[in-house]
Amino acid sequence: MSKKITVEKKVLSENDRLAADIRKKLEKQKIVTLNLVSSPGSGKTSLLERTLKELGNKFNMALIAGDVQTENDADRLKRAGGKNVRPVITGGACHLDARMVTRALDEMNLKGVDILFIENVGNLVCPSSYDLGEDMKVVLMSTTEGDDKPLKYPSMFRRSSVLIINKIDLLGLSNFDIKQAEKNARTINADLKVFEISCLKETGLEAWYDWLGNQVTSKKGKK
Ligand code: MG
Ligand code: ZN
Repeated sequence: MSKKITVEKKVLSENDRLAADIRKKLEKQKIVTLNLVSSPGSGKTSLLERTLKELGNKFNMALIAGDVQTENDADRLKRAGGKNVRPVITGGACHLDARMVTRALDEMNLKGVDILFIENVGNLVCPSSYDLGEDMKVVLMSTTEGDDKPLKYPSMFRRSSVLIINKIDLLGLSNFDIKQAEKNARTINADLKVFEISCLKETGLEAWYDWLGNQVTSKKGKK
């Protein structure tokens, strides 16, 4: 085994250990935890802004906003009504890891929180390898990307439970074929729950809100 691979394995097993601790802690508090992943510009922050505005009175939501540089996304989430928003600047790293999330959570008040959103760094490659202690990964893609993204980045789509296709208001303005995109995604992961939405035009979001509500209900119902 090459030295590089050995070091990588060590980093990942350390990450898995920390992620397991996070999962245990959040499970105890019955917090639905979603790790949002996508390429840059697919609309993770926009989706969270909409969700905060729509469900802010219904659920207690906490958010971790990861970015390589700037707190712009965290500021947007605060402006959208997020009261429990924690920016994480990775300072170059192209993904969040469990250590960063542990540190962020240590500084957050999780009392009464129903849903924790972790907005990962925009990148479809390595965030798939870093467990953050989430219940599920939610992968976004948008109609301005290639519909073959799931085939190009299979690991991310395999490890996600939910696929959100954003910017459906732009369908027809490019070669993006939404049926083909979903077919590609299901080739990689037949169990993906799919939502077709437009954050800009606020279409398709009701199904997402309902689904989120169901996640909260079923988590609270668990002993
Ligand atoms: Mg963002
Ligand atoms: Zn990375």
